[in-house]
Amino acid sequence: MSGTMPHDLRVFVNERGVSVPFGSDAATAVRAFDDALADAIAAGEARLTDSRGLPVDATTPVHGGAIFRVIGGRREAAAVPQIPWEVLRTLPKAELHLHLDGSLRPGTLAELAAQAGTSLPSTDPAALAAWMLVDDAKQLEDYLARFAITTGVMQTADAIERVAYELVHDVAADGTWYVETRYAPSLSTRGGLSMDDVMAAWWRGLQRGERETGTIARMIVCALRGDSVAMAQAHAELAVAWADRGVVAFDLAAGEAGNRASKYREAFAHASAHDLAVTCHAGEGWGAASIREAIHDCGANRIGHGTRLHEDPELERYVADRRIALEVCPTSNVQTRVVSRFAEHPIKRYHALGIPVTLNTDNRLMSGVTLTDEYASAARHLGWSLATLAEVSKTAFDVAFLPWSERRALIARATDALSAHVSTHGTA
Ligand SMILES: [Zn+2]
Repeated sequence: MSGTMPHDLRVFVNERGVSVPFGSDAATAVRAFDDALADAIAAGEARLTDSRGLPVDATTPVHGGAIFRVIGGRREAAAVPQIPWEVLRTLPKAELHLHLDGSLRPGTLAELAAQAGTSLPSTDPAALAAWMLVDDAKQLEDYLARFAITTGVMQTADAIERVAYELVHDVAADGTWYVETRYAPSLSTRGGLSMDDVMAAWWRGLQRGERETGTIARMIVCALRGDSVAMAQAHAELAVAWADRGVVAFDLAAGEAGNRASKYREAFAHASAHDLAVTCHAGEGWGAASIREAIHDCGANRIGHGTRLHEDPELERYVADRRIALEVCPTSNVQTRVVSRFAEHPIKRYHALGIPVTLNTDNRLMSGVTLTDEYASAARHLGWSLATLAEVSKTAFDVAFLPWSERRALIARATDALSAHVSTHGTA
């Protein structure tokens, strides 16, 4: 993929990033953000401004990094977030599903690639961010090509430590008090690092970030579907060996189709037998049967995504009854075409059924979102109030894999702060 020019521009509409092809106009950018708002502008019911509030013609060509706001019109009330973004940013949050190799800063990716002598589609951070965004992924290969780029620069201890360290700062700035970062250390062994070296660098970065920000950061070791059974076992053993040094769980990630979780049941059994929590990506690239295997064959304590759980009503009831939490990543699911639109994401159904649901980004870089963005989208597309969002945030603290001795204090702090936040900022 090196040498390919970025074919999209990254622009912002109502504080949300969208990608549009080169040569697009402002109206196209608004349509990429929200059809109803684009219609309102076309009908003269709403108008467009730049970041300073100055009027912008809808036919204006866009440039990378352009900022637009849609103002006025009867339909604005329905389509624009009711809860100010800053209120959601400062809402105490926990993120439980975040890939280390999917969340690099674009500028860091460019710098690390230059150091390593690796060529990238672009060296300009804004263009690189646009290229890395997967919302145009036509197939899994498009998606995986992006990860080959990020893991390509994560082959030294310094690079891994830096990526982990910066990630803690980035999520802390996003109002995240607790984060579980996940990675498959085998992806960083091409330059001669051992898997233990990778763990040590990752953990050093998280600890340094935690000391400076106060955001508690932990690790989930991922085995990859498609790996050999022996390689998955090696990851489970690694996770267990690091359980007293920042690892809180074992996970299975990567393409579900054709790679059943049950194939790796021994690795899960090893983690469970050593009293380590387990989660499993399931119900994203394959249906509810994948979730059934994750729970019943692999003993998953939480489910990564779980998007297609509704296809099996009996299992859905079991998940609700057993209080198995879902690590939901709505924007990522829209980008990989598991659901057609955010507004149609089954998280709303799962929440209504009382299943513990949490909001997550999956990948800050490839998904082009922050956790605050996910909360803002849930408010706008699902109609969730600040009180509901605070309740969902509380769930994430409740079902975190942090040991109970530490989690109990964190939950108490978060619960107080969440209720204070809701009473200060009203019941919007
Ligand atoms: Zn994931």
